[in-house]
Amino acid sequence: MKKKLIAGNWKMNGSLAANQALMQELLAGLGAPGCEVAVCAPAVYLAQLQELLKGSALLAGAQDVSAHAAGAFTGEISAPMLRDFDVRFAIVGHSERRQYHNETDATVAAKAQQALAAGITPIVCVGETLQEREDDKTEEVVKRQLAAVIHANGHCISEIVVAYEPVWAIGTGKTASPEQAQQVHAVLRKQLKAASASADRIRILYGGSMNAANAATLLAQPDIDGGLIGGASLKAPDFLTIIAAAA
Ligand code: PEP
Repeated sequence: MKKKLIAGNWKMNGSLAANQALMQELLAGLGAPGCEVAVCAPAVYLAQLQELLKGSALLAGAQDVSAHAAGAFTGEISAPMLRDFDVRFAIVGHSERRQYHNETDATVAAKAQQALAAGITPIVCVGETLQEREDDKTEEVVKRQLAAVIHANGHCISEIVVAYEPVWAIGTGKTASPEQAQQVHAVLRKQLKAASASADRIRILYGGSMNAANAATLLAQPDIDGGLIGGASLKAPDFLTIIAAAA
């Protein structure tokens, strides 16, 4: 059976001192986790994270990666650069990047491709807005977003992680019900199965106000293989409770 994955997304939060305190508390409480655990830090703190994580069971992740391998792309960070800091995961296509940085499905697919080429697992985020849900377009939207990544990545697709993150649930305190989440996860699983014989090993995470109180019921759903956690990953006791729920 595949291990669940709990990945924290710190977003644009933290400082050298705050990260050190958070990681100290987290590592002290972690023990030998029964699932895979990663924290996705702002790029400037990946070197600090590399030091703090040495010898621990925790893995480092980035929050984005360039769609290009190298060259004249001022401000961008390539996947091979992330590898230099032992980065194992990179979030791609987070709704905040799709929304505020106009990232298209094609850009997200190219980012996933760059990550895979460098041996980094892309955590590909898909999810509908509230308007799209109300218009009964949830399936259509998430399938379109995932199809672009499948199309660009062909036989490597079994190496990705998918995160279903309904946009209306991110940072709002509104969580998809376990049934709502499972329904979309099943759609995504079916799509992955049609694309790859190894689709069963692809982990599909749920993200969107997952917290210490609701994690266990969400993670008990048959197609929910972990969580992408924003706000609650900044509080060590809450993040540890979610990790325990995934074990
Ligand atoms: C996220 O940023 O991916 C996320 C799920 O945030 P939150 O848990 O705060 O809703």
